[in-house]
Amino acid sequence: MPFHYDPGDLGQHEVEIAITHCGVCHSDLHLISNDWGISQYPFIPGHEIVGSVAAVGSEVRSLQVGQRVGLGWQSNSCGQCEWCMRGLENLCPAAEGTCVHRNGGYADSVRANARFVIPIPDALDSEHAAPLLCAGITVYNPLRTHGINPSSRVGIVGIGGLGHLAIQFARVFGAEVTAFSTSAAKEEEARAFGAHNFVNTRESKAMKEMAGTQDFILSTINADQDWGTYIQALRPTGTLCFVGVPPSPITVHAFPLISGVRTITGNPTGSPYRLREMLDVAARHGVKAQTETFAMSKVNEAIEKVKKNKVRYRAVLAN
Ligand SMILES: [Zn+2]
Ligand SMILES: [Zn+2]
Repeated sequence: MPFHYDPGDLGQHEVEIAITHCGVCHSDLHLISNDWGISQYPFIPGHEIVGSVAAVGSEVRSLQVGQRVGLGWQSNSCGQCEWCMRGLENLCPAAEGTCVHRNGGYADSVRANARFVIPIPDALDSEHAAPLLCAGITVYNPLRTHGINPSSRVGIVGIGGLGHLAIQFARVFGAEVTAFSTSAAKEEEARAFGAHNFVNTRESKAMKEMAGTQDFILSTINADQDWGTYIQALRPTGTLCFVGVPPSPITVHAFPLISGVRTITGNPTGSPYRLREMLDVAARHGVKAQTETFAMSKVNEAIEKVKKNKVRYRAVLAN
């Protein structure tokens, strides 16, 4: 059912975006069913937003009405804490999610603090750019933060909305890229996205053969795995980084962490600066989401298809 609300006066530092496109992220599905206990109803999901600036607050100098812009997971931060001052607004304790206690992007319009509203480079079309605003930055940020470069060997676990972008970015950074998937049917597409190697994770022999080969493994999946095998796949000083959330706690033996100085870490979205950088890299190097478009009015259809894992690789709603 369409839900109408009155957004009130536009804040001095706020921007109103007339939405043309919004990606469907798995986080939206978790928020719809309140899996994280933070949803407020009536609830409007959506945080992979592209549109044009419809109005700007009186103090906004950085954006103009009519300009094409994007908005991701985060819509505001305090702007004054240590993390905001360091350009790590994604780590601000007062960070506000675009659709957490705010009205999100499965809508005609949305509002956010101007600092989080990012111009979209001309070379990117809106439909393919929208998923970059959450899925894209979620994988781009850790690859950049961990210094992936042409000497790196990078493993991407899961070839879905996040994984297919992670393969492309890791390839742009010059790394040797290995795709890990439970679905042998995805090998061809994983290679088309830029993977040099493909490992079917259901084959324990193939997994064992990966021991000591990877510098950085990025897990994008929301399923439990034998994480010890992935730790074994790391070279000394290697890192296993989570951006997907497995349902169970991550259980690994300490010994391979100790003997090989290996690290387990994670990553939440990225700062506005990194978002700009990522869009620029995507525009110059041709990184784009593979999408399936649905009319905004067909949002429930899109959600059902995403739930059934039938979308390759990102559903995008269009107004
Ligand atoms: Zn998301
Ligand atoms: Zn802050």
